[in-house]
Amino acid sequence: MADEIGPNLARVQERIALAAQRAGRRLSEITLVAVTKTRPPEDLAAVYEARVRDIGENRVEEAAVKKPQLDLPGLTWHLVGHLQSRKARQAVDLFDVIHSVDSVKLARKLDAIATERARVMPVLLEVNVSGEESKYGLLLADRAAFEVAVSEVADLPHLHLDGLMTVAFVARDPEEVRPIFARLRALQDELRTRFPQATWQHLSMGMTDDFEVAIEEGATMVRIGRAIFGPRE
Ligand SMILES: *Cc1c(COP(=O)(O)O)cnc(C)c1O
Repeated sequence: MADEIGPNLARVQERIALAAQRAGRRLSEITLVAVTKTRPPEDLAAVYEARVRDIGENRVEEAAVKKPQLDLPGLTWHLVGHLQSRKARQAVDLFDVIHSVDSVKLARKLDAIATERARVMPVLLEVNVSGEESKYGLLLADRAAFEVAVSEVADLPHLHLDGLMTVAFVARDPEEVRPIFARLRALQDELRTRFPQATWQHLSMGMTDDFEVAIEEGATMVRIGRAIFGPRE
């Protein structure tokens, strides 16, 4: 597989560029986060070699094992999977950005730890746009409750709330999830007006099966694993 990572990555980058072009967007506003979950450190080194600097992992324990095995300067580590409160401390120490803040309780915990560490932690709020029970993320059904949660997170002094993240449902045709991404984008525009104390720079949306549609709908970070590294076991 390692031999295929370079060509796979080049193809993904080309598809990102074409999607940006179709949407009339600048390529520089879109970051590819290479999702290396379940992959060995050598695979991570292979994308580093090809100048990828943003790495996504979905589990704190896995990053804790992998990170010390690598000596690659200048990497930005993104936590993209669900974070349990009891692992918040480790997450703050291992990651540069947390995409998966899905409760006020977790946000408060991260803020307390970041305060101890005298740092400000960049975070995104994960939104469960479709409301599926199997998914993590803040729900939109009760809009008032959602906005109370956003305002609490936005006001935490040691978190830097910088946007939204979502995971779309699995679809046969990526067009089926376009409305999910459009909804997240519209939500971000509303929140920007309602909560100007946060920066709302990022929309983390789009994975192997749907990243082009996500870019057309405004994604600034796409999280891609299989299209680069091949299928997971
Ligand atoms: C695994 C994962 C990805 C990448 O998924 P692929 O389908 O392999 O591109 C993106 N985001 C999250 C939250 C993930 O867990």
